[in-house]
Amino acid sequence: MSGGGDRDVWVLLRAGDGGLSAADKGLLREGRRLADKLGGALAAVIPGGEIVDAETAIGAAGGDSFFPAGGGDHPERCAAVLASLVQRHLPRLFLALADAFGADVMPRLAAAAQLPLVTNCVDIEASEEIIFTKAVQGGRLHAAITAPGGGPGLATLDPHHLPEGDAPSAARRAERCEVASDGEPIDTRLDIVSRVKAAPASVDIGEAEFVVAIGSGVAAKENIATYARFAEAMGAALGGSRPAVDSGALPHARQIGQTGKSLTARLAILCGISGSDYFTAGIQKVGTKIAVNTDRDAPIFKSADLAIVADADELIPRLTERLARRAKEGGA
Ligand SMILES: Cc1cc2nc3c(=O)[nH]c(=O)nc-3n(C[C@H](O)[C@H](O)[C@H](O)COP(=O)(O)OP(=O)(O)OC[C@H]3O[C@@H](n4cnc5c(N)ncnc54)[C@H](O)[C@@H]3O)c2cc1C
Repeated sequence: MSGGGDRDVWVLLRAGDGGLSAADKGLLREGRRLADKLGGALAAVIPGGEIVDAETAIGAAGGDSFFPAGGGDHPERCAAVLASLVQRHLPRLFLALADAFGADVMPRLAAAAQLPLVTNCVDIEASEEIIFTKAVQGGRLHAAITAPGGGPGLATLDPHHLPEGDAPSAARRAERCEVASDGEPIDTRLDIVSRVKAAPASVDIGEAEFVVAIGSGVAAKENIATYARFAEAMGAALGGSRPAVDSGALPHARQIGQTGKSLTARLAILCGISGSDYFTAGIQKVGTKIAVNTDRDAPIFKSADLAIVADADELIPRLTERLARRAKEGGA
């Protein structure tokens, strides 16, 4: 059975809405790269549930095996289950995304298993020793960190610095490793009373699943309500190009691009954006890009999966109306 050993790399995946997100696939790719360097295997650990057709999905993204582990989505129970797994199998590296889940679970795992943890890494190199690189001083400096001893070493990775991927290989299947579901009951100090999905408008644009982005072609201040309504109907976060921010239509935290945020969305609808390199640097990791532009020669169409030559100011209100009608009819 693969998935344990002092050269192996493990990645923490969350069983969310079923499938693997773009960030999960990036984490698996990074895990694969490091496992190959170390000469070990890559295993995914999935606490609290299942990923749909995990054998195929994880295998195609580069994993050799996976552990469906217990612990649910309670961070203390989850950390306890992971600690016993890590202590049993002693992988060389255990990586997670530096998102809300990773930031909640990994420090608890480090404390429970008495292991070193480096958070928010932008790079990890594996040779004689493991070198973790993280941005410090607000990104002005990079710190290189090594952990004493031979491992296991824990790290969380900035989702914006994960490697771009090759097309997945559908032929590869990951091996399922059975694990005891919840382990020993433990005393917890945390009661989760309820979980409330954040309104898309309040989600960090870099982490939003769906994004509507506006450019200088449509981002006049009096137009914002039209696009905000569309974003709301889509369950999307609203962002934009630099001119949309410079004009005061959007706050700086909503800027996309080289000097703004990088998106990890599954879908982005790009309205009235020409597609300069400074902007497209921020949409490389988007799953599906739909661009709406009046100019059929706009460079953004080269980056888009679907190109719509249209006046967005006319198209978007009609789409919003249609989405509202569908919502009223119960999605029929
Ligand atoms: C150092 C530096 C850093 C930068 N960083 C960033 C960055 O991080 N992010 C960023 O975005 N930019 C950045 N820029 C600016 C960048 O170079 C471009 O100027 C900017 O991205 C252009 O924004 P835009 O596409 O919204 O506007 P434009 O280039 O003006 O394009 C507007 C588009 O809207 C279309 N259009 C007009 N009306 C409509 C309509 N009714 N419906 C549909 N389409 C319509 C037009 O055909 C056109 O293609 C940076 C520049 C520099 C020098």
